[in-house]
Amino acid sequence: MHILKFGGTSVGSVDSIKQVIQIIERHRADGQLPGAVVLSAMSGITNQLIEIGRMATAGQTDYLELVRRIEDRHFNVVRQLIPVKEQSKVFATVRGIVNELEDLLRGVSLIRELSLRTMDLIMSFGERLSCTVVAECLRSRGLPVQFCDARQLIKTDSQFGAAEVNYALTNPLIQGYFSNLTDMPVVTGFIGSTEKQETTTLGRGGSDYTASILGAALNADVIDIWTDVDGMMTADPRKVPNAFNIPTITYAEAMELSHFGAKVIYPPSLQPAFARNIPIRILNTFNADHEGTVISRTADWRDFTITGISSIDDVVLVNLQGSGMIGVAGVSARVFGVLARHRISVILISQASSEHSICFAIEPRNAEAVRLVLNEEFAADIEQGHIDSVGIEKDLSIIAVVGEGMKKSSGIAGKLFSVLGKNGVNIIAVAQGSSEINISVVINRNNLSKALNAIHNVFFQSEARILNLYLVGTGLIGKTLLRQIHEQAEFLKKEKLMRISLVGVANTKKMLLDPKGIELDDWQGRLLTEGVTTSLPAFADQMKQYNLPNSVFLDCTSDKDIVRFYEPLLNGNISVVTPNKVANSGSYEEYRRLNRTALRRGVKFLYETNVGAGLPIINTLQGLITSGDRFLKIEAILSGTLSFIFNTFRPGLSFAEVVREAKAKGYTEPDPREDLSGMDVARKILILAREAGFPLEPTDVTIINLLPESCLAAPSIPAFFDELERNNAYFESLLSEAETRNEKLRYVATLEGGKVTIELRSVGLDHPFYSLSGADNIVSFTTERYKDRPLVVKGPGAGAEVTATGVFADVVSIGNYLA
Ligand code: ADP
Ligand code: ASP
Ligand code: MG
Repeated sequence: MHILKFGGTSVGSVDSIKQVIQIIERHRADGQLPGAVVLSAMSGITNQLIEIGRMATAGQTDYLELVRRIEDRHFNVVRQLIPVKEQSKVFATVRGIVNELEDLLRGVSLIRELSLRTMDLIMSFGERLSCTVVAECLRSRGLPVQFCDARQLIKTDSQFGAAEVNYALTNPLIQGYFSNLTDMPVVTGFIGSTEKQETTTLGRGGSDYTASILGAALNADVIDIWTDVDGMMTADPRKVPNAFNIPTITYAEAMELSHFGAKVIYPPSLQPAFARNIPIRILNTFNADHEGTVISRTADWRDFTITGISSIDDVVLVNLQGSGMIGVAGVSARVFGVLARHRISVILISQASSEHSICFAIEPRNAEAVRLVLNEEFAADIEQGHIDSVGIEKDLSIIAVVGEGMKKSSGIAGKLFSVLGKNGVNIIAVAQGSSEINISVVINRNNLSKALNAIHNVFFQSEARILNLYLVGTGLIGKTLLRQIHEQAEFLKKEKLMRISLVGVANTKKMLLDPKGIELDDWQGRLLTEGVTTSLPAFADQMKQYNLPNSVFLDCTSDKDIVRFYEPLLNGNISVVTPNKVANSGSYEEYRRLNRTALRRGVKFLYETNVGAGLPIINTLQGLITSGDRFLKIEAILSGTLSFIFNTFRPGLSFAEVVREAKAKGYTEPDPREDLSGMDVARKILILAREAGFPLEPTDVTIINLLPESCLAAPSIPAFFDELERNNAYFESLLSEAETRNEKLRYVATLEGGKVTIELRSVGLDHPFYSLSGADNIVSFTTERYKDRPLVVKGPGAGAEVTATGVFADVVSIGNYLA
């Protein structure tokens, strides 16, 4: 026998009810109607009934308007799905039920009191109406069905709101009812009654429970829970877009996931099915061919160590602590005893081994009650100072990581804590059940979405991990980078399981942020049409508000002001990548502080492209330092511009012309004076010196001027070029002197003995810098380990394409580290 249960969204509209009918008819076509169909109220109706009850108690009369709307929704189904000639009878039945509701509400509005008991009765109308209407729809299609009010079958105690089932009474009633049944019953979910025939409910979401109670009493073959998602997923798909279907799952796992918020099944529903070993399937009414999820004793799907992640969005943590608790037996018994007596359920408990404190999570609506009862229970202990007062922390969430696979593997907690740490999510309390299939953490509510997505990312890596990228600066490098990322997206996804999502982009004029991602083939279009006037503080604020996991801020400008955002961003656990040298070549203190902040926050501050564009210079240096090597000397040609200039400058060409060409090729800084004054090289060698362990300041760099004074003093770029022309003879003489010695002019930066010098040298054939071509850079590291023959890195050290490549590599390395 099959039991089918359809949830609120499945019976929420005319179209969805059509799907339900089709699913039931498919059973008939396959040879057998289901043993029973259990229905929820149409979606939203239960909440509306609660609201109506409140309005009536408050003496508001406009609740009638809401009642009308409820009636209309049901009438509409009748109108659309039942042949006209049969409609009037059904309208009358619906009217009758609604009249009963109105009578009840009138009473409530007179006495102005709404007990839980009356609320249960009011709520029961939702299921009674939906079942009445859908049963009629089915009957009008020739299916032999009958409406069944579950209050005659499911007997409960009188805990209104979430009553406990009395199976000893219930099971025989169900079995009796079904034993002489010819038609298929359409059973109201969610509701039951006491022995005194008072209406009760089984707790919100309780229609699933009804199906399971029926299934277990009748020893059904399977219980199908039809809902609006493809089965149980690795996380709530509304919160984690990457979540995917779990084909099979054990009762225990499903229990943990649903207890900790996976609303897709109501936790108590698992118990009756589990006891009789009846599989529960979760299926999608709107995608009926999907296999969904089978919940049973064993589960064979084990590609990952964990099975799923769930969360409770809003909880309150109660903390009881005090020196008087240490070693005293019975404190926890008293705490939980008094809570049990007041029927306050505890979601999670955590006690430090010092026994100095006990903390537990509860629903926010119970917070005040808990404070009262604990203060009362421990009044004497508080007075004597053995226990501090009862602390209550609000606006928290619980995340539970669940899976049978966790039993056999170590390092799960480490992985969980590490990913939360890297994303700046503080863990307030932790609990692990001794069954080892659940680790739960309590965190601040505003971090919930970030935490869920980040955890999902690391534990389910066969899905692409998402790196959220904010880019400021859409000049040559920024643009090239976005193109490269776009071209490489497929590869990254397939081979690196990584997806880079551009969530913010800004240039000097406009900015655009979209947490869902900005398409890389149309970012320019969108920035133009949807972008707003750029404001970096607003950009940074928005980043903070989104609070996305695995975020990277990319500064592709050469701006001086933007640098002040780095530190707050790093402090907000956002990694920073930049080819912009400003931050690292300012004061040593600032350089050090940024690096420290990143380290402390567990995020990255990467700037490989500060020196030598995409060449692996800083990474190489850091590798040597980390492994314990010591630097004796660094010699380097770090200006692609000057390399190009001196490699191109030859008799017959004016020096100014060559500089112009370098500028046109995009080799120079926007202002070529930066290059020719030696400033740019000074910044780069300063960064290398710092990376090599020398705490130098900009003033420690000695630049021996390459240009005549008059060129350096030029007030503008055109004036500078004029001065270069005027001084051409000087440059020619430098060149011819070198040529007569068979040497080449090279602009060399040297770090030796803790001192940095930059000067124009002419080097002979025997020098490794002699044969440098084009705009290449070269760096030669002489270290204790590379003493006899230095370690040399050489290659193109300028140009948008290679710089963007270096930036890209930095971004991807963050993806590998974070996600
Ligand atoms: P119904 O009305 O059919 O009972 P519910 O709204 O009670 O449906 O439950 C289905 C919803 O549960 C889904 O739409 C989904 O947002 C939510 N949900 C939460 N966690 C999970 C999960 N792990 N897997 C699937 N759905 C989940
Ligand atoms: N209608 C009830 C609720 O909304 C029961 C259910 O849908 O399962 O809680
Ligand atoms: Mg439900």
